[in-house]
Amino acid sequence: MIYLLSGLLTGGVLTAVCWPLFAADNSLESTILEETEWDLLQRRKEVMLGNIQDLDFEHKCGKLSDEDHRTLREEMAAEVGAVMDQIDQLETSQDLDALIRREVSSRKKQAAKTTTCPECDHTNVPNNKFCAECGAKL
Ligand SMILES: [Zn+2]
Repeated sequence: MIYLLSGLLTGGVLTAVCWPLFAADNSLESTILEETEWDLLQRRKEVMLGNIQDLDFEHKCGKLSDEDHRTLREEMAAEVGAVMDQIDQLETSQDLDALIRREVSSRKKQAAKTTTCPECDHTNVPNNKFCAECGAKL
């Protein structure tokens, strides 16, 4: 019984210790998602346009009545229109410029950290201790 309890306790402590790591990961992820809201909207638009194509196809195959097809298609077109408006708004606002600048500067920082091998000129990813190409010490 005592083993079970101490096991549970250890598990609890481990969870408590590791939790901030996962939490940090989540917040990082949500920042990235926030930054690429434009990407998400674009993807949503693609999916919706695909759905409309599917709908047209099902109508053509006779699975949908003209009436249903027209109603559903109008609804879907309105949704796509709303998403496209959102994309327009994002693109016209300064947010997108800021987003691109942030993205570019973070990529540049990432690229600056790469190490070129003194032996073979291979460009190694950041924090490599040895060259991935020839194994020379960096
Ligand atoms: Zn090398």
